[in-house]
Amino acid sequence: TCSSVPKEARLTDKFHGGFLSTALNESSCLSRYQSSLYRKPSNHTPSAYLEQKLRRYEALHKKCGPGTELFRQSVKHLASNRTTGPLECNYVVWLPADGLGNRMISIASAFLYALLNDKVLLLHLPRDMADLFCEPFPDTSWLLPRDDFPVKNLDRIFEHDPHSYGKLLRNKVLSNDMNVSSSSSSLPGYLYLHLLHANDDFDKMFYCGEGQQLLKNFPWLLLRSNEYFAPAFFFIPELQEELDLLFPEKSTVFHHLGRYLYNPTNSVWGYITRYHEAYLANARDVLGIQIRIFAFAKVEFDDMLSQIVNCSVKENLLPEVDLEGSNSLPGITDSKPKAVLVASLMGEYFDKLRDRYYEHAAVTGEVVGVYQPSHEEQQRTDKLTHNMKALAEIFLLSMSDEVITSPFSTFGYVAHGLGGLRPLILVRNRNQEPPCVRSLSMEPCFHFPPSYDCIAKKKVDKGSMMPYIQHCEDFFLGVKVF
Ligand code: GDP
Repeated sequence: TCSSVPKEARLTDKFHGGFLSTALNESSCLSRYQSSLYRKPSNHTPSAYLEQKLRRYEALHKKCGPGTELFRQSVKHLASNRTTGPLECNYVVWLPADGLGNRMISIASAFLYALLNDKVLLLHLPRDMADLFCEPFPDTSWLLPRDDFPVKNLDRIFEHDPHSYGKLLRNKVLSNDMNVSSSSSSLPGYLYLHLLHANDDFDKMFYCGEGQQLLKNFPWLLLRSNEYFAPAFFFIPELQEELDLLFPEKSTVFHHLGRYLYNPTNSVWGYITRYHEAYLANARDVLGIQIRIFAFAKVEFDDMLSQIVNCSVKENLLPEVDLEGSNSLPGITDSKPKAVLVASLMGEYFDKLRDRYYEHAAVTGEVVGVYQPSHEEQQRTDKLTHNMKALAEIFLLSMSDEVITSPFSTFGYVAHGLGGLRPLILVRNRNQEPPCVRSLSMEPCFHFPPSYDCIAKKKVDKGSMMPYIQHCEDFFLGVKVF
């Protein structure tokens, strides 16, 4: 925690040095102004260029957002189901897939796409996400108004949809080098971008410069993704200069965009602050441990537990315990206890870790408190209260001093990305050696990047093309910015 910095001092930076708009109403979204009380100050300052870009985006969103005359005009155009080129206001509508972590990384990627293309991002938020986040943009809304939107089957649009960009390319109805203004009579009113992990090479043409050029002509794009596809933009030569200006420190894309976009509503902020004040605020430091077991990668309970213990001891994050009990009355130091925050759907790991430091003395004499806010047993993404707890735990993890995370989990990615933390990842390997590795960066992993080089027109290894993009430690097929 950051208990050494007086709260009043940190409150003076409530606009995060100009990063946040001053036009927002403070009481309706306390987290936006109070996060700096709970988080360590970020070592990563957003560039002035990014700040300006966000202010310009906010103005565009306000001008074109739901309820405006320009929005009505664009919707009218959409209803006519013909595209004749870009309008004054052009939109990208995000559609959800999978759990909260997947959704948060894909919204951030879609927002970067909108920023880079002067498009307005609107969300088709399911009810199970209705009370999680404050509106990020002042005097407008990022929610797609369902009743006023002519495309009614949003929940059923997938790769086979007649508007699918990949499908239209495959069927040669569209081509990336076509002249849109002269073919307008045959072009549909919107395109659907299928950016889920299991998409094909035609869908993945979205990641090529020519694809991006064509898509600029469509005032309405619908996009469904469960991935962190932001790294793909770094491979497009036309975007490189802009990305350099926006993110001089490349590995901060999610960190900055995530902190800007995601402010929990007052109800979720209540969960976070109550838990933090009750259990974590007085600790000397907090170690977050995120344990995610996937059905497709089962692991024995005891193996996982010993890997967690080995990692935390090896990395000097937790003390060894005196199992013999020969040193059962160590002089307890008066230093504050260390806190361990466990995030997991299951309660068993927490039980064992807590017992370990209750039943045995630490060889260092330190006292370790182990806490877990919830154990929901099963993923229930369709339930709002379940998602509120998930978001609260993501934020609590992000406030830790160090985090140990599970491989491949987007839930973990969001937590350490928001926290600005390079996590220790519990990589899967034989004999648990090493039990964990330090991530190269705080960025999420893009699990299934395109393997096609749009310029050379051949398959390439995307992990070795750029000096600042590498394969992910936790999933070799993936790439991440560092
Ligand atoms: P991923 O599946 O690990 O990539 O992460 P997602 O967030 O996309 O989906 C997992 C979902 O399971 C989360 O959104 C939560 O609903 C739930 N979940 C997984 N781990 C935890 C946890 O540690 N705490 C809570 N409260 N929920 C969790």
